[in-house]
Amino acid sequence: AGIIEIDNLSKQYGSGTKALNNVSMSIEEGEIIALLGPNGAGKTTLISIICGLVEASSGSVKVGGHDLRTDWRAARKMIGLVPQEIALEPFEKVINCVRFTRGLYGEGPDEAYIEKVLRSLALWDKRNAATRELSGGMKRRVLIAKALSHRPKVLFLDEPTAGVDVALRREMWEVVEQLRRDGVTIILTTHYLEEAEEMADRIGVINHGQLLLVKSKDELMGEFGKKT
Ligand code: ADP
Ligand code: ADP
Repeated sequence: AGIIEIDNLSKQYGSGTKALNNVSMSIEEGEIIALLGPNGAGKTTLISIICGLVEASSGSVKVGGHDLRTDWRAARKMIGLVPQEIALEPFEKVINCVRFTRGLYGEGPDEAYIEKVLRSLALWDKRNAATRELSGGMKRRVLIAKALSHRPKVLFLDEPTAGVDVALRREMWEVVEQLRRDGVTIILTTHYLEEAEEMADRIGVINHGQLLLVKSKDELMGEFGKKT
């Protein structure tokens, strides 16, 4: 079984909106998956359910064999989420933000690990800076450092490059490449085909709450006639 097993997942919000319709998917350890789809497709809903922030209407999700409905805590510890919105305490030091998030997961201190994370994200020199002093790219990297603070096996990146310029987009792609080398399983959402192609091993196309297809990058490009 994959590190994430999604089985027949559906979500209907109280408003009546059907955000997800019978989504099933298996994600292997170490792979990078892009969920590609337009605004309103259901990408954030899917991520929010897997991360335990939103309850599914039906279906099941297992993370590392732990069923979200019965074993939520164990499942949650295996996951890190980098949210779309940058929400950081402006006057807090970078390193404290990361320590704080680690604490939220009930993990004891591990300064050596936090140093490793900050170094790998080129934030070590900024560890004592207040987050409000950082550039947009650095702030995004702090969000990633926070999401990695408890050593998750799976990292979710919700629209990591929404609204950022080309240089910053490249920077994010490089960070993802680095995380891949560290063996982290990554699930990201995007509405740019170019970005999905650049970063992911497999691409899941989602629209109107349905997972239309999941293909390796090469298969998908072949279908659009871009590669021979
Ligand atoms: P995406 O991330 O692909 O843009 P979302 O998962 O955010 O898609 O949204 C899927 C659908 O569910 C949309 O129609 C959206 O308006 C609706 N939706 C999302 N969140 C909520 C919510 N909290 N309450 C009601 N409807 C929602
Ligand atoms: P998570 O990463 O699990 O979503 P957050 O790090 O966003 O959790 O923190 C949850 C709450 O704690 C938020 O209200 C946030 O503003 C606050 N918070 C985050 N970092 C700090 C910090 N270093 N010191 C004090 N409060 C913080």
